[in-house]
Amino acid sequence: MENLVVTPTPLFHFFVLLLGAALGSFFTVVVYRVPLGMSIVKPPSHCPECKNRLKWHDNLPMVGWLLLRGKCRFCKKPIPVRYPLIEFGCGLALAAAAWCGMPPGRGADAAAVEWTLRLMLLTALAFPVVVTDLRSMLIPDVAVIPGIALALLASLLPGGLEWRSALAGALAASVALWAFGRLMSKILGRDAMGFGDVKLVAFFGALMGAKFALMSVLLGALFGTVATLPLAKLRKGEIPFGPFLYLGAVVVWFQGERLWNLYLAYATGG
Ligand SMILES: [Zn+2]
Repeated sequence: MENLVVTPTPLFHFFVLLLGAALGSFFTVVVYRVPLGMSIVKPPSHCPECKNRLKWHDNLPMVGWLLLRGKCRFCKKPIPVRYPLIEFGCGLALAAAAWCGMPPGRGADAAAVEWTLRLMLLTALAFPVVVTDLRSMLIPDVAVIPGIALALLASLLPGGLEWRSALAGALAASVALWAFGRLMSKILGRDAMGFGDVKLVAFFGALMGAKFALMSVLLGALFGTVATLPLAKLRKGEIPFGPFLYLGAVVVWFQGERLWNLYLAYATGG
């Protein structure tokens, strides 16, 4: 197992692109339905204009829209081009994540495969989390809970983050953010943070372990605070925190080790 090396071909990245597009199609439904309290499976996809139920092949990511030439097959009303674009964007993002960790033609060992799977999870959830939080101040459980489960499962694979570290990361990050939220609520005198944010950082913890997850909570809180100060004057009411946490997690994913070394050098006066 230790020396297992796979060499991905471009076909692999193409399949990941299709997987990402299918996820994008599903997440479009999530972003729209979850804030309305609707089921994500019932009713099945239908035209918002004439309510006719779509055929299964109309639902194929990207392809369905192209085959229909952007019009409902029943009422001929246009289907917004943002749907195939979102699907394509999600597909491209997931394929880019796979390419980043497992470029074609180069052998990937178990640790590289595990790293890539975790980066793909981080990438896949960005769209539903950030968009739903921006639009509706909600972080959808239907994305984050499977995300946590898959991240913990990935840690069972050999060669990368250990399952104990993943579990400890999920716990440490969620407790830290929960405590920060309680503190902010006391200071502001109102509920400053939703439980969705706590589940989101549990996901980051399961992906990165305690040290990096705590760093991304800190960074996310920093981004959130800096952006909120001018925004709070412009925009009354709640500020979504999920996008800032996500930004913090992505920065730490790629630059965490460097930031940590900078901090160590600073802390020891080097
Ligand atoms: Zn229609």
